[in-house]
Amino acid sequence: MKNLLVTGGAGFIGSNFVKMMLKKHPDYKIINVDVLTYAGNICNLREVEGAHNYKFIKADIRDREAIDKVFKGNDITDVVNFAAESHVDRSIVEPEIFLTTNIMGTQVLLEAAKNYWKINPGDKYCKKYKSGVKFLQVSTDEVYGALGRSGKFVETMPLQPNSPYSASKASADLMVRAYHETFALPINITRCSNNYGPNQFPEKLIPLMINNCINDKELPVYGDGMQIRDWLHVFDHCSAIDTVVHKGINGEIYNIGGNNERPNIEIVKLILKSLNKPEKLIKYVQDRPGHDRRYAIDNSKITTQLGWCPEYSFEVGIIDTIQWYLKNHDWVKNILNGEYLNYYSQMYTNI
Ligand code: NAD
Repeated sequence: MKNLLVTGGAGFIGSNFVKMMLKKHPDYKIINVDVLTYAGNICNLREVEGAHNYKFIKADIRDREAIDKVFKGNDITDVVNFAAESHVDRSIVEPEIFLTTNIMGTQVLLEAAKNYWKINPGDKYCKKYKSGVKFLQVSTDEVYGALGRSGKFVETMPLQPNSPYSASKASADLMVRAYHETFALPINITRCSNNYGPNQFPEKLIPLMINNCINDKELPVYGDGMQIRDWLHVFDHCSAIDTVVHKGINGEIYNIGGNNERPNIEIVKLILKSLNKPEKLIKYVQDRPGHDRRYAIDNSKITTQLGWCPEYSFEVGIIDTIQWYLKNHDWVKNILNGEYLNYYSQMYTNI
């Protein structure tokens, strides 16, 4: 039995995680704390609204008083922290909020977890040090920086973030580590590659390209489009986090990846082909400053030590995702409101 606090559970990955956990663990209570920024969408959780073991609380992770109240009022045993500003492009335009949410917000949660004295039964480390609830920080492979043509990210690599977004995530990772070393807070950090799947906000590469393609709009591709990412289906990411929640060894970091490296341009062309649209819709635009060239994850630690492995093949996952956006036209329409349109016109002038 767990009372699991999920932060950012109205966003893309968080909402998929909440729905999966409620199905897989009907005896757990899930408390979803989300402030509902432009990226948070409560409609993502319609199917679980009213479930006896699910509660939504609208709160900001930077608000110490509100977060303490959540811990005290819900007997929290575990935290999975998804809440973040998550878009690299926005971090270049407006970095400050990435610092307050991603770093300070994480510290507020860590402090509450530390102060809320709850020992995880069965965890030797917790018993020995009698320290707080278990804290899982959802991080990103971007904290490692960029790779050359070969090699993969392993958990022991130094952190070399290149964008304000990845620098804020790396800082949060270090704060999580510090709470473990200084206060013996039981923790895990997961670092995953780029996710795709249902409910992703259409500013990110795959849903942006799918939606523009559906609407016969130009597809903005940064630079030469040869930036390589290691794509992971969101359902696989959620199952990996579930594995770490249950089997993660206290204090350990786990990379999560789909063994699926692809250049951006290949993905864009695949989407065009699947929707039967011409390649002339591609519009190459000026590259993002500090754009990392290649990411690739070595996921052997989580696969060999915890027994997790990705199940989705990209060929199936991408078609499912395109179908999802075609079927959920209203979901997309409701998101494409004033805030997003302003952002889009600032980012991609002339498109
Ligand atoms: P998202 O932007 O879709 O969702 C973020 C959620 O956090 C939103 O619901 C938002 O309302 C909420 N939030 C933001 N600020 C908050 C605050 N101050 N208080 C409470 N809630 C707040 O992001 P996502 O793509 O679902 O990513 C989730 C996590 O996974 C992030 O921490 C991100 O860094 C990490 N991650 C994402 C990817 C990816 O490909 N999407 C890859 C690696 C790591």
